[in-house]
Amino acid sequence: MNLYSNLTNALNLNPDKEAYIFLNESTTYRELHQKVNQFAHSLSQQGIEKGDTVALLLGNTPEFVVAYYGTICAGATVVPVNPTFTAREIEYILTNSKAKGVIADASLHTPLTEVRQKVSSVDFVVYTKPVESELAFESFIDNDVQNFNGPVVEENDVAVILYTSGTTGAPKGVMLTHKNLQSNAEAVKDLFEMTAEDRVVTVLPIFHVFCMTVCFNAPILSGSTMILLPKFSPQEVVETFVKEQATVFAGVPTMFNFLLQIPTTKEQFSSLRICISGGSSLPVAVLNKFQEHSGIQIQEGYGLSEAAPVTAFNPLRGVCKPGSIGVNIPYVENKVVDPEGEEVPRGEVGELIVKGPNVMKGYLGMPEETARSIKDGWLYTGDMATMDEEGYIYIVDRKKDMIIVGGYNVYPREIEEVLYDHADIVEVAVIGVPDESYGESVKAFVVSKNETLTESDLKNYLADKLVKYKRPQYIEFLSELPKNTTGKILRKNLRNLEHSTK
Ligand code: AMP
Repeated sequence: MNLYSNLTNALNLNPDKEAYIFLNESTTYRELHQKVNQFAHSLSQQGIEKGDTVALLLGNTPEFVVAYYGTICAGATVVPVNPTFTAREIEYILTNSKAKGVIADASLHTPLTEVRQKVSSVDFVVYTKPVESELAFESFIDNDVQNFNGPVVEENDVAVILYTSGTTGAPKGVMLTHKNLQSNAEAVKDLFEMTAEDRVVTVLPIFHVFCMTVCFNAPILSGSTMILLPKFSPQEVVETFVKEQATVFAGVPTMFNFLLQIPTTKEQFSSLRICISGGSSLPVAVLNKFQEHSGIQIQEGYGLSEAAPVTAFNPLRGVCKPGSIGVNIPYVENKVVDPEGEEVPRGEVGELIVKGPNVMKGYLGMPEETARSIKDGWLYTGDMATMDEEGYIYIVDRKKDMIIVGGYNVYPREIEEVLYDHADIVEVAVIGVPDESYGESVKAFVVSKNETLTESDLKNYLADKLVKYKRPQYIEFLSELPKNTTGKILRKNLRNLEHSTK
C-alpha cells in the first residue's frame, strides 16, 4: 500500500482523463503524472530523501496536487500546513516536523523569510511564483524526467504528518502512514462508488484530512476529475455544480447551511449524485431543509485526523438515519465504552473508540500522548456517542464540550438542534459559562436573520421543548460565529470571548 499507486492507478485507467480543473484550465492524469515525477526529481536534487519532511503551505491549487504527490513520489513525508497560519504557528510546525523543504504560496515570502531564520532544519523554500532569488515552482517541473525512480516505501512508513490543535497545549503531529491513508481512500471510493466518471468539487481545504481523503486521494484513486476551488463561496459552488456538471460535493455542515441562505433551484443541483457532510454534527433541521431545497439527501459521516479520517458513514444504498453518523465503514470497528473501556449497552452514552487500518501510527515525538490515545489498538476519540441496535452511531458531543449544570450533564448539540429548528435562526453555538449556584449554566450564541427576534422570544420558544436545566440562561445575538478555515464553528473561541469579557 503506497499512496503513489493512486496516481499510477488513475494513469492506467485513463491517462487522458482530466485529473483536475482549476480556473477553467484542465490537466490530464498523464500531465499530472509527468509533473509529479519532475517535481520528485527536483526534490531529490535538493537532497530530499526517504524520511525527510516537506511542508506545503498552499491552498487548493495545482501546485498542491503536484507537490503532495511529488513529495510522496520522492519517498518523503508531506506536512500540509494551513497557509493562513501566523508566522508563530508556522514556525512551530516547521520546527516540530523538522521540515527540510518548504513549498509555499508566493504571498508568504515575507513571513517565511523571518521564520526561516529561526528554523535551522529548512534547507530550501520553493515559491509558487518567482520571488527575488528564491526557487520557483516552475523550475521544479522544468526537466525531462518521465519516471522518477524513488526509494522503496513500505506501507507503515509515514506519508503525511497533520497538525491538530488538540485539546490541550501545543498542536500535535498526527503521523499517518501510507496504509492509513490508502486504506481510507479505498474505503471512501467503495462507499461512494466513485469512478472515473465522477466530477468532485474540491472546495474544503486539502490540507485538512477530510478533504485530503474524500475529495483528493479517493478521487485520484478512482481516476475521477477534481474541480479545485481555493475558497468557499456559496454562489460560486452552485455555479460550479452547473458549469462543471459536478457529481460529488463534500462539505462541513456550515457550508450546507450557507447554500440554504442563497436563492437556488433544484435544477442547479441536478447533476449531483452525492452530497457528503462531515467534520462536525449536521443539524437535522439543516439536513431536512437542504433536502427540500436541492432534492438531494446528504450522507453524514464522521472522522478525525487520527483515523485518516473516516470511521463511520451512512450507507449510500442502505438506510440513512438523520442525526446519525452512520455505521462502521469496511474494515473499521466502532465501539461505545465506559471510562473503564467496557462496551456500554446499546443506547447508552459512552466514549466512541475505533480500530482499523486507518488508525494513526502515533503523535510525532509524543509517546505518552500516543499511549493515552491508543490502547490495545483502539483509538479513543474524545467524542461521546450512543449506538442503536442496528449499529448506527449518534455523536452526542465532544467530551470536553459537555456542560454540567447542577450535576446534570448537558450536551450543547441537543440545544443547538432545537434552536436550528427555529425558522429565523441561521447559526447557533452553545457553551457552558460559570454559575455560582449550579457550577455552570448554558449560554447560546445565535445568528438570526430576523432583527426583531429577542432573547425572550427564544426563551419562550424553548420553554416547552427542553427541561429547565438545559435551557440557555443567557442568549447573545452575533452577526456571525467564529469558524476555522474548514468552516467548523469554534466553541473554544466563544468560551475565550466569554472569559475575556468577564
Ligand atoms: P479533525 O481531527 O480536525 O478532523 O476533527 C475531528 C473531530 O471533529 C471529531 O473528533 C469530532 O469531534 C468532530 N466530528 C467530525 N465529524 C463529525 C460528525 N459527523 N458529527 C459530530 N462531530 C464530528
